[in-house]
Amino acid sequence: MISVEEALAEILRHVQPLEPERLPILETLGCVLAETITSDINIPPFDNSGMDGFAVRSADVVGASAATPVRLRVIDSVAAGYVAGVTVEPGTAIRIMTGAPLPEGADAVVPYEDTSDFSRAKEERLQSPSTEVEVLRPAGSQDNVRPAGEDIHVGERVLEEGRLIRPQEIGVLASLGHPTALVHRRPRVAILATGDELLEVHEPLAPGKIRNSNEYTNAALVLRTGGIPIRLGIARDTKAELTAKIREGLSQGADLFLTSGGVSVGDYDVVKDVLGAEGQMQFWQVMMKPGKPLAFGLLRGGVPLIGLPGNPVSAMVSFEQFARPAILKMMGRSHLDKPAVQAVLGEEVRNSGRRGFVRVIVTREGDTYRARTTGEQGSGVLTSMSKANGLAVIPEGTRLAAAGTVVTVQMLDWPEEMDL
Ligand code: AMP
Ligand code: MG
Repeated sequence: MISVEEALAEILRHVQPLEPERLPILETLGCVLAETITSDINIPPFDNSGMDGFAVRSADVVGASAATPVRLRVIDSVAAGYVAGVTVEPGTAIRIMTGAPLPEGADAVVPYEDTSDFSRAKEERLQSPSTEVEVLRPAGSQDNVRPAGEDIHVGERVLEEGRLIRPQEIGVLASLGHPTALVHRRPRVAILATGDELLEVHEPLAPGKIRNSNEYTNAALVLRTGGIPIRLGIARDTKAELTAKIREGLSQGADLFLTSGGVSVGDYDVVKDVLGAEGQMQFWQVMMKPGKPLAFGLLRGGVPLIGLPGNPVSAMVSFEQFARPAILKMMGRSHLDKPAVQAVLGEEVRNSGRRGFVRVIVTREGDTYRARTTGEQGSGVLTSMSKANGLAVIPEGTRLAAAGTVVTVQMLDWPEEMDL
């Protein structure tokens, strides 16, 4: 048997970040930048007001207070998107809205709240704008002014190569005027279910048959990880069908293959034979439960193939341990570990002695995460995954984890996201 770490290291040794491609920014969500973005502008591009109020010369309002208001003549009004036509001279002010450029002559903005205008109703102000305003509090130079370049400076390296693109990075790219970005290509992941017992989702059940669920969980996992699933459907356990499906996947430009089933000891050896014939495969026994059988190798042309176990829970757990990091690495990601927390076990958990991945429900109580199992843990019990938001990791060699033990839990979702 090999350890989870050994199996993963061997897989990762054979996958590399895919070449960059240029995409519209909205299509890069979850991708990794393959270029460094340097700004050729200031953001904001000009000094502007951070408040609705009056642009003033701070020297004019040094002594302003409610008891001794400073009276200024209002000479213009400027909204966001426009530029004032006049200069603020001593004794004058310009009405200004948030985001409008600071007019010439002004060096501060007095918010409405600090002026006599505040006591006037909005409709009234709009109908007959004040020609004079009383300032009731002093404002220092640059008060409520957002200076040009406050966010980003000309020449600044804003997003480094290797940066994961989230909604905020897409916003930054938009503000810098980039309609597209260069990112590592998303891997095309061919998904193949194997087994004579499998039916398509729409087919009625028949004796000895079950529906093919792995294709769907695998495709959904690939999507969630950021890859592009290529669904090859079901291959019967015959040499001809399996070979044809693998070649079909290759001809569709698969960067990675995920098969399920046919790799455990007791199987008809068709899957093993065909994989062996189509590439260089290794068939492993990984020191984990569920998910002991696992195949890995390179098909002809060097396309990696991960042969996941057939049992639906085993397939998902193995996907999280092996396929997810491989896909993330192909996408150029450097943090490949599943996010994890330390949680207190709410009950005793028995373990095989291999590394156990126990489906749990994690809840947060104050600063403490607590984990209780989802019940029946059989590797065919897919609802044990459906009820879970985490996989509690019981270390190798541990046969019994007592209630109260602190264990690492790989989070499938965060407690706050669960809507069950
Ligand atoms: P195998 O590794 O092919 O012996 O499959 C192990 C178990 O997983 C068997 O009970 C299979 O029926 C089941 N299984 C295999 N492939 C799938 C699939 N695509 N969907 C649901 N169950 C499957
Ligand atoms: Mg099978």
